[in-house]
Amino acid sequence: MDKNTSVLQLKGVGEKTGKLFEKLDIRSAGELLSHYPRDYEIYEEPVKIGEALPGKVCAVHGVMRGVAGEKRIRRLHILNVTLADDTGVLQLTFFNMPFLKKVLKPGGYYLFRGLVQGAGTTKRMEQPRLFALEEYRQQMNRLIPRYALTKGLTNHAVQKAVKQALAQYQWEEEYYPAWMLERYSLMPEPQSVETLHFPESREELLLARKRLVFDEFFSFLYLLRQNRQAGEKLENHFPMMETADTVRFLEKLPFPLTGAQKKVWQEIKDDLGGPVCMNRLIQGDVGSGKTILALLALLMTAANGFQGALMAPTEVLAVQHFETVAEYVKKYGLCFQPVLLVGSMTAREKREAYEKIASGEANLIIGTHALIQEKVQYRALGLVVTDEQHRFGVRQRETLAKKGDIPHILVMSATPIPRTLAILLYGDLNLSVVDELPQGRLPIKNCVVDTSYRPKAYQFIEAQVAQGRQVYVICPQVEAGEMEELENVVDYAEKLRSVLPPSVQVAYLHGKMRPADKTSIMEAFAAHSIDVLVSTTVIEVGINVPNATVMMVENAERFGLAQLHQLRGRVGRGQHQSYCIFVSASQEKATMERLQILNHSNDGFHIASEDLKLRGPGELFGLRQSGDFSFRVGDIYADAAVLKDASTAVEELMCRDPELSDPCHIPLKRHLSQQAANAVDFRTI
Ligand code: ADP
Ligand code: MG
Repeated sequence: MDKNTSVLQLKGVGEKTGKLFEKLDIRSAGELLSHYPRDYEIYEEPVKIGEALPGKVCAVHGVMRGVAGEKRIRRLHILNVTLADDTGVLQLTFFNMPFLKKVLKPGGYYLFRGLVQGAGTTKRMEQPRLFALEEYRQQMNRLIPRYALTKGLTNHAVQKAVKQALAQYQWEEEYYPAWMLERYSLMPEPQSVETLHFPESREELLLARKRLVFDEFFSFLYLLRQNRQAGEKLENHFPMMETADTVRFLEKLPFPLTGAQKKVWQEIKDDLGGPVCMNRLIQGDVGSGKTILALLALLMTAANGFQGALMAPTEVLAVQHFETVAEYVKKYGLCFQPVLLVGSMTAREKREAYEKIASGEANLIIGTHALIQEKVQYRALGLVVTDEQHRFGVRQRETLAKKGDIPHILVMSATPIPRTLAILLYGDLNLSVVDELPQGRLPIKNCVVDTSYRPKAYQFIEAQVAQGRQVYVICPQVEAGEMEELENVVDYAEKLRSVLPPSVQVAYLHGKMRPADKTSIMEAFAAHSIDVLVSTTVIEVGINVPNATVMMVENAERFGLAQLHQLRGRVGRGQHQSYCIFVSASQEKATMERLQILNHSNDGFHIASEDLKLRGPGELFGLRQSGDFSFRVGDIYADAAVLKDASTAVEELMCRDPELSDPCHIPLKRHLSQQAANAVDFRTI
């Protein structure tokens, strides 16, 4: 079995399971092995009922008191039983498991594991797992992998398949030369992959994770360096002059630019008119008003007779930008001839767009990254703007340069990156910072609460909707899966429909929906035909609906602070007072402290650095996707040391053997060229 062997070759994986794996983009053994756990569960020592902390997943054992109640609501069967020990009692609720009534004998001794809710004499667990004592003992204190799943596929099935694949796998030759493995203490690949799936200890897991993070950073930095070499000699092929178009646009805008926006606009004008091709990163916190700067630069480009492209990481965001532009064109008579280019367009619509771009009829192309880069022939592409740059992988300047002269490059990001890291990641980019928020914004009011606050939150949402405002509710999961304790979008939307009055329009959005459906939901929300949007973090970047004033995040404890800050950035964009409600299902002290940082600060930079202080690299043993820079696992903040190592390694390699022609570097050369092929691969979220 090697990386290309079909998963259908595994025992126990038939056509049906194969289809489920396919939903997770797993077809081959190689893809299965790189489906790393998203985190690990530890079965701890069971605790006394009195010590079971609400908000925590605990194992408790005790004596069955018997059935406390049983009822049926439509198709839902509800069974309540009581468990007791010498420190207290615990109510257990089971849904649709009537057979348990016969299994659980009064007076018997049982072990349950689940999320503890309530407190004191009303402590309870919903749908806990029942274990035989011996079975539990065997698994105790081990790190048990938890995988991303899809409906119908259990965690156990994935574990079994991975175990089998590992046992039969023929590993390819190690691609790092011996000197690198040693110098940077890298675990060999087979061992690291096995450890990531089935770690013996945390220490070992951290080492395995380090290899993975190093891999990601190393190939990223290597490809970056290759691109940079290809892009040298950056003469300005598209010299531009300021025209009346931008001046008039600024005069007509209902608001003046902030001081910071003015400063950056001047820098952009200097670049576009200067001797060297622009290569600039605009960094500015969420809501600092970066879009208008991009539009000004694009307008100057169009006014000078060139084409400009605006690339967004998601289709939803691309469509939003397109609509903003269309509205501005109508309102202010701008000289844009915009076209949209996104995956959900029909072949015919795309062909029409390509024609307009090739003929030069279109002077502003807005779309998702992949589409704009791959198939399009431009007439005179003078400027490329990338919004939310941190969502992309390696810059594809070279691809664009092949289409003609090298265009000006402007990238925008809300992720605050310390300067030293920015230099590693962006190399030769010039940095502009929009360090000022537009005036007149009311600071967002935050609160961090536990789940008991929900009824109040729903009342509040109802009242805001009654005043004509709109609401986002974020859940970590798409649909009910294995991780019972996490809220999911589909069920949550259903629940909100039943608690809110029927006049309130509730809809949901998640990454697994068809792009066209996502777009139409987002459009409906922007047009205010939807009041409450229940969503996963697909709306995290860029979305601008100024009428939305409430952001409620469920299972806030599951998200990174930087991500929560991005989510919060979706509200507080208009003149109305906005609110952010972080609901934490965990009342652990450390979690609450972490969330309190958000409560007390609206400054992205401050939040990122505080988050790092609290997390520390040692805690990052989950493989949660960080979402930034398209690194699957690596975190540029917490893994800054590994990032530096990887950077040193690239430099050293280029010194020793720039062509990678030494026999000891051949496997690495092969590996990197495969990575380069994948780098174009675009993450749709
Ligand atoms: P981000 O930097 O997060 O991309 P946007 O560009 O989407 O932020 O801007 C957020 C909102 O602020 C938009 O509704 C925009 O029209 C508005 N805005 C931008 N600049 C100003 C300004 N100088 N004064 C007032 N409102 C502004
Ligand atoms: Mg933006």
